[in-house]
Amino acid sequence: MKHKLFMGNEAIAWGAIEAGVAVVAAYPGTPSTEITETVLRHSKEYGIAAEWSVNEKIALETAIAASWSGLRAMACMKQVGLNVAADPLMTLAYLGVKGGLVIVVADDPGPHSSQTEQDTRLFGRFAKIPVLDPATPAEAREMTLKAFELSEEMGVPVILRPTTRVCHVCQDIAFIPPPQEKSRLKGNFEKDPRWVIMPSRSSQAHRQLNAIQPKIARWTLQAGFNESRWIRGGNKELKDLGIIASGISFNYVKEALERFGLTAEVYKIGAPIPFTTEGLFEYLQGKSSVLCVEELEPVIEEQLLTALSLNRAFNSLSVYGKYSETLPREGEFNSDLVATRLLSFFREADPLLAESIEAALPNLVGSTYRNTSEDRPEPPRRAPVLCAGCPHRNSFYAFNVAARPKKAIFTGDIGCYTLGALPPLNASDTCLCMGASTAMAAAFHKVEKDRPVVAFMGDSTFFHSGMAPLINAVYNQARMTLVILDNETTAMTGHQPHPGMGITGTGEQTFRFNFEAIARSCGANWVRTVDPYDLEATIEAAREALDQPGVSVLICQRLCINRTRPSKPYVVDQEACLRCGICIDRLGCPALFEGDRGEDRKQKRRGPAYIEKAKCTGCGACAYVCPKKVIQQEGSL
Ligand code: SF4
Ligand code: SF4
Repeated sequence: MKHKLFMGNEAIAWGAIEAGVAVVAAYPGTPSTEITETVLRHSKEYGIAAEWSVNEKIALETAIAASWSGLRAMACMKQVGLNVAADPLMTLAYLGVKGGLVIVVADDPGPHSSQTEQDTRLFGRFAKIPVLDPATPAEAREMTLKAFELSEEMGVPVILRPTTRVCHVCQDIAFIPPPQEKSRLKGNFEKDPRWVIMPSRSSQAHRQLNAIQPKIARWTLQAGFNESRWIRGGNKELKDLGIIASGISFNYVKEALERFGLTAEVYKIGAPIPFTTEGLFEYLQGKSSVLCVEELEPVIEEQLLTALSLNRAFNSLSVYGKYSETLPREGEFNSDLVATRLLSFFREADPLLAESIEAALPNLVGSTYRNTSEDRPEPPRRAPVLCAGCPHRNSFYAFNVAARPKKAIFTGDIGCYTLGALPPLNASDTCLCMGASTAMAAAFHKVEKDRPVVAFMGDSTFFHSGMAPLINAVYNQARMTLVILDNETTAMTGHQPHPGMGITGTGEQTFRFNFEAIARSCGANWVRTVDPYDLEATIEAAREALDQPGVSVLICQRLCINRTRPSKPYVVDQEACLRCGICIDRLGCPALFEGDRGEDRKQKRRGPAYIEKAKCTGCGACAYVCPKKVIQQEGSL
C-alpha cells in the first residue's frame, strides 16, 4: 500500500471523496479552509459539485438539498460559522437526512484565529446530533468515511469536529486514490411531507430524535470510536487510576505516559455525543480515581458525573478534570501542559507514583523538547500587522484624516482588515462578528445622532452578511458611511473567490456582482468607488461620504498586495528627512523603520526614517504622508 503525507484537512477531504460525496459547500474559515480547497482541486476528476458559499448557513442549506435528493453531501466551516448555520442545523436534526450529510466544524482552542473558543461538542449535544472527535489526520479520514455511513443508517446529520492541531498537522497515511468518476450528481428529490417542518410534525420528530440516541451511541461503539487502549510507555503500570481522553488530548496523554515510563489503559472517546456508559463503566470497574482530559468544555466530564450519580456501584470513584481545576477550561492543550496536569492528578490520587516520576524527571516542563531544540533559535516575535502596501491601510488612513477629528465612531468587522484596529491606525472601535459593523453603525446613529459613524467591511464579508444590515440601515433612516474594503479576494483565509470576482471556486468564469449596483439597489443614494492608492482622492471621497444626509457607501477598490506584483520600492533621503516620524507613527507600515540615531541619541532626537527594500511593495503611501516629500520611488531621488 502506498503512503502519502496528508494534512488533517486534506485527509478529511479525501475521506469525503472516498465516501462518494457529491456536493460540498463551505465558507472559508481557519482552521477548516483546506478541506474545501482540496475538494475543489479534485472536484472535476470526481464529478463533485463543490463551492465556496456566501456564508455557512447557505453552505449547510446547499448540502441539505443535496442530501434530500439522495446524494452524499458535506458542509464545512469553523466553529463560529456554526453560529451562522445554527438555524438550518436545529431544524435539520428534526427533519433528518436521506443521503449521508456530514457537517465538518473545525474548533479553534487557543484561539489562534477566532473571536471565541466555542466547543462544538456542546452544539451537537444541544441539537442532539452525533459528534465525532478525531485525534489524528488518519482518524479524521476514517471518521469522515464512517460519518457518512452513520448519517445514512440513522437518518441524521453527523458533525465531525476536528480541532486546529488535527486540521493542520501532517501524517503519513496508507492511501490509494479512488477511481475517478464523470459525475456524482445523480440526485432525485422526491416530494415528501417529511421534508416540511410543521408544529405537529416537530413534536413527533423531537420524540424520534430522542429515541434514536442510544442506537447511535451503540453504532459509534461498534465502530470502535470509544474504547480503551493500552499505552505502553514503560515498566511501571498504572493500575487503579483511570484516564479518559478525547480528540487531540489522547495524543498528549500518550506522550506524557511515555515520558513518565508508564504503561496504562486509557479510555479514548472519539464519539462524545451521544454519550454512552457502555464500555466506559466496564473500564472504570475497580478504579479509585479517573481524570478526564478534554480541551475546552467539560463535555465528557459532565456527562460522566451525571451517569455516575445514577449508579451506586461507583460511589467511591473520584472524578478529576475541569471541576477539580486539575485542567484548565480555556485555551489549547499541549504535551507539557497535559504532562504537568497528569502529574498533579497523580499527586492527589497516588502520591507515591507522583514522587517516583518527579524524582526521575525533576525538570518536567519542556524537558523532552528542551533537549532537542537547544540549538534552534527562538522564532522572532512579531506583532500582527497589515502587510506592507496593504490597500486597507490607506483607506483607514484616509478616514482617520477625514473623520477622526469629528470624533467619528469606526465600527470594524471580521477579516484581515480587523488588524486596522491596532495602533497606529486605531481604525476599529468595535468588532463583534461577521457583518456586525454595518448593523452597529446604524444603531450608533440612533443613539448619537450628530456623531459621524463609519462602518468598515471587507468584500467577502459584504456578501456573507453585509447586504441585509445595509438594507436595514437605509430602511431605518440611519446616517452612516459604509466603506467596502474591496481587495478582490477573501484574503484572510487564503484568497478564496467570492461573487464580486466573477470566478467560482473551481475556476470558472461566472457573473460578477457589482458593489456599486448592489449598494444602490439596497437603497444607498450616494455610492462611489475609489482607488485607495490614490490617497488624496480617497480622503476627498471620505469627506464627501461623511457629508451625506443618509447612508453613503464608499468602495475602496484595489487588489490585495499578495495577489499582485510589487512595484519598485521607495527610499528615504536620509539627509533631508525631518525625523518627524509621521510616516512611521501614522501608517504603521512594517517596511518603515526609524533609522540609526547615532550621536543624536543623547539629544533624544529621532533617527531618520528608513525603508527596508525587501519588504516595501512600492505603494507610495508613505511618500504621500511625508510633509517634506523626501520619500520617493527608487531611481527618482
Ligand atoms: S511605499 Fe512606503 S508605505 Fe508603501 S510599502 Fe513601501 S514603505 Fe510601506
Ligand atoms: S515623514 Fe518624511 S520627514 Fe518625517 S520622518 Fe518620515 S521621511 Fe522623514
